[in-house]
Amino acid sequence: MRAVRKIKPGPGHIALCDIPEPDIEHPDDIKIAVQRGGLCGTDLHIRHGGYGFRPPVTLCHELSGEVVKVGTNVTRIKTGDRVTVLPTANGACGHCRHCRASEFFFCPQRKSVGSMRDGGFAEYCVIPQNLAFPLPESVSYDTAALVEPLACCIKAVLFHTKIVPGDWVLVSGPGPIGLMCADLARLAGGRVIVCGTDRDAHRLAMAKGAEHTVNVTRENISEFVRSLNRDGADIVIECAGVAASIDQCLDAVRPLGTFTQVALIEHPVEVNWGKIIYKQLSVNSSIAQNWPSWQRALEMVIDKTIDPSAYISHRLPLENWEQAFDGAERQEGLKYVLYP
Ligand SMILES: [Zn+2]
Ligand SMILES: [Zn+2]
Repeated sequence: MRAVRKIKPGPGHIALCDIPEPDIEHPDDIKIAVQRGGLCGTDLHIRHGGYGFRPPVTLCHELSGEVVKVGTNVTRIKTGDRVTVLPTANGACGHCRHCRASEFFFCPQRKSVGSMRDGGFAEYCVIPQNLAFPLPESVSYDTAALVEPLACCIKAVLFHTKIVPGDWVLVSGPGPIGLMCADLARLAGGRVIVCGTDRDAHRLAMAKGAEHTVNVTRENISEFVRSLNRDGADIVIECAGVAASIDQCLDAVRPLGTFTQVALIEHPVEVNWGKIIYKQLSVNSSIAQNWPSWQRALEMVIDKTIDPSAYISHRLPLENWEQAFDGAERQEGLKYVLYP
């Protein structure tokens, strides 16, 4: 079968390979015919040799598909089920302090699907049944593939950030994660401003959850926010992961406000940490999912409170993986999904 794989460590070394079709290895396994795989910033980090991964490995941790075979122990899932996958919990031990606190992401035994074991940029994917969650026919495979990033945003915005109706919320960085965070902040009652640079013009135009969008290349975001709320933003959510954005957030937030770090930051950045103490800010961060945010993401896509597929800009066949990776790196469009 065809699969987009990271073949060895270091930058590059990604290729569309022809590999044997995987089969069920353990009685708890299920085999999925992949329908959609979302391209995430993590896949781009892996392309450049960063982020933890174990090559050779098939990429993609945001996937959906139809179950075509189940192992002899499998009871929760049956053939024909339409499933989304929780990639992050794979291998979590279930009894360390983090697992017991439902924070499986921090389990030392964890091995994510799409980086430590084969993921969704392939025709078939085999995973343990505990990672698969059936969804009704009313949830499209596009939406199902994006439950994973949605759950990240839910954890950050709804569980780690206290938003009170009427709060001014600034989201910096209008990528797919930033725009989902903006939607969720609005659902929580926030009045949302989304900012980005000149390169983000088309992404800002897709910020449906925002009352205002600001191009920081042309406008001072701090002044703009203060024209709406004299003291500054009640809450800032950093989704760009670069020093300039972090600094702008620290400027735009009001004294006693809240700063939440959502974007991953690979390398040390220089920021004015003094702004945190002189404004006495509450600083939060949030990475990946936990069980409550995963559960809530499933509920929200089933009842259509939010539909992350609204942010898909490109749907491409696996063969065009390079076009998708290059486009995402150039920040063209928004979310890319591949299908076999
Ligand atoms: Zn992701
Ligand atoms: Zn554990």
